[in-house]
Amino acid sequence: MNIPKTSTPRIVIIGGGFAGISLAKKLSKQEVQVVMLDRHNYHTFQPLLYQVSTGALEPDSIAYPIRKILSHYPNFYFRLANVEEVVPEKKIVRTDIGEIFYDYLVLATGSRTNYYGNQSIKENGMAMKTIPQSLNLRSLILENFEQALLTDSLDEQDALMNFVIVGAGPTGVELAGALAEIKKGILHKDYPDLDTRRVQINLIQASDRVLQEMSPVASKKAEQFLENLGVHIWKDVLVTGYDGETVTTNSDLTFQTATLIWSAGVMGATVNGLNAEDLIARGNRVKVNEFNQVEGFKDIFAVGDIAAMSTEKYPYGHPMMAQPAIQQGKHLGINFERLLNNKPMKPFSYYDKGSMATIGRNKAVVDLPNFKFQGVFAWFVWMFIHLFFLIGFRNRMVVFINWAYNYIRFDREARLIIRPYKNPKTKDEETQVA
Ligand SMILES: Cc1cc2nc3c(=O)[nH]c(=O)nc-3n(C[C@H](O)[C@H](O)[C@H](O)COP(=O)(O)OP(=O)(O)OC[C@H]3O[C@@H](n4cnc5c(N)ncnc54)[C@H](O)[C@@H]3O)c2cc1C
Repeated sequence: MNIPKTSTPRIVIIGGGFAGISLAKKLSKQEVQVVMLDRHNYHTFQPLLYQVSTGALEPDSIAYPIRKILSHYPNFYFRLANVEEVVPEKKIVRTDIGEIFYDYLVLATGSRTNYYGNQSIKENGMAMKTIPQSLNLRSLILENFEQALLTDSLDEQDALMNFVIVGAGPTGVELAGALAEIKKGILHKDYPDLDTRRVQINLIQASDRVLQEMSPVASKKAEQFLENLGVHIWKDVLVTGYDGETVTTNSDLTFQTATLIWSAGVMGATVNGLNAEDLIARGNRVKVNEFNQVEGFKDIFAVGDIAAMSTEKYPYGHPMMAQPAIQQGKHLGINFERLLNNKPMKPFSYYDKGSMATIGRNKAVVDLPNFKFQGVFAWFVWMFIHLFFLIGFRNRMVVFINWAYNYIRFDREARLIIRPYKNPKTKDEETQVA
């Protein structure tokens, strides 16, 4: 990989997501060489992927070059590489561009879509975990309308204009709200020769409420907001298959649709060599101790979505969200300093700052540890927090201007089919860029 050997310890970080970047920043002042490997040369702000899929934002406003984030840090090296295997006995990482030796290794590989083994959904459904996937979805949605214009069959038109979203967590809810707003404000103007009142947005949830991880009051309000926007919510329904035309469920209920969007779960993005059965906890995450050390290894750590740290409050690991990833990354940075100075490491403790979701224009729900609120104020809080956590001044400005423009004009201008979507059938999109 052409990385110079130095006398300082080499820390290899796999993944430039929230956890990997927070850790690398903390290591910047330490006497170490940091090598970051990622299959993308950019950091993705995943919470706003749905806005790319629905044409509210261009993809480059939610992505940021990893090299630029860390360019002024000494001893930092980035390599664009897909990690294929870790060989702990030899302390090397094997990638598609060669191997690299590590003194310490940090897994910060995040998660990938969990289809729970359902091959038909994996092959025919759409996921939204990466920017390429979000662009695929944006293209497919727009291509469906173009195709609907060309057919006289009402059944075919209905299937093309029926969007089925499976999983009513924050991603599913936010996407359903955004599609409902497009139906309300944009479609009839773009497609005056289509009866876009027949567009349907179906949100399917296996349990008895949407936003299950949030408070009951947030769930109730979110359902109300969605229903007012015309979203059909189906609770206690388990989707069992999708052949590209029909969605089947555990009851007689079926849906004819050209678009199934799968937002029903994620699982740890494990790496070969560190995926032995006894290392893996629920959700395909890697078991770590209170210092984020992978079980059984002194020199290998895991942070963020991939790490399962079992605590009394979180027996199956912390929530797979940005805050635990950021906090674990920072904390491990502090622990590395202690470790390298022969001081005992400090256990990680998670500070829960709350959670939120937006349902559309002027509508959001926010659960803070001691205060819950919904509506317009929650929506402003949601926007402020997302702008704050976006990386890069330019991105913040672009997103802010886009949101202000969309708000005033009731518009979403990125309705572009830049790269037409073609279903590759066997798309393991989070390991090969689709
Ligand atoms: C659509 C969506 C919406 C979300 N909304 C929210 C939200 O509103 N609030 C919230 O708190 N959280 C949200 N999340 C979850 C949040 O984004 C994740 O919890 C967070 O990104 C985890 O950070 P991480 O650093 O562990 O992993 P990631 O941010 O996923 O980063 C992992 C990195 O590792 C790289 N990588 C993985 N495997 C390899 C490999 N083998 N070789 C090379 N590189 C590799 C990836 O390319 C990626 O850059 C959302 C997630 C999604 C998908």
